[in-house]
Amino acid sequence: KEELNIIQGALELRTKTVEDVMTPLSNCFMIHIDAVLDFNTMSEIMQSGYTRIPVYDEERSNIVDILYVKDLAFVDPDDCTTLKTITKFYNHPVHFVFHDTKLDSMLEEFKKGKSHLAIVQKVNNEGEGDPFYEVLGLVTLEDVIEEIIKSE
Ligand code: ATP
Ligand code: ATP
Repeated sequence: KEELNIIQGALELRTKTVEDVMTPLSNCFMIHIDAVLDFNTMSEIMQSGYTRIPVYDEERSNIVDILYVKDLAFVDPDDCTTLKTITKFYNHPVHFVFHDTKLDSMLEEFKKGKSHLAIVQKVNNEGEGDPFYEVLGLVTLEDVIEEIIKSE
């Protein structure tokens, strides 16, 4: 029954982690910090269909900002504005969470905070070098809700 599935889904929020439900980095639609907001770039952003777009510098694992599609409202593609100009102006915070964060605490975070997107990271201490933060993907409120209301 549907109600049982929802209860089941709600109970699983305590055991499942953000890593279980995130969109992996390789599938994330992102944009390079040095991008120019010309017609092509703006079309690509619109066509992606996403509302929040992580901005990276050099490597895709180095996320430095979040672009909201609504930030583009006053951008004229003919002006060839740089993305940096826009991100500096709006300066949205980037919210990071650890990969093993349980979905119930993630839901609380999303309810408290203003942002409904978080970047998932873990401490990578495999290998010889010093441990470092490794970005694994992104998680949104939608991913958590989906876990509750999915019907099997
Ligand atoms: P909204 O519904 O608020 O307009 P949205 O459609 O951009 O936002 P969500 O509804 O929050 O995104 O999430 C839908 C799915 O898309 C989730 O699985 C989420 O992980 C994924 N997602 C969100 N943003 C991106 C992105 N930039 N690249 C790839 N996947 C994303
Ligand atoms: P997003 O968070 O995806 O950027 P949003 O902030 O415009 O979208 P929601 O987060 O979906 O809107 O909704 C937040 C609250 O604002 C809800 O209570 C919703 O009913 C209300 N809301 C959304 N759009 C409007 C609107 N055009 N006029 C008045 N209230 C609205």
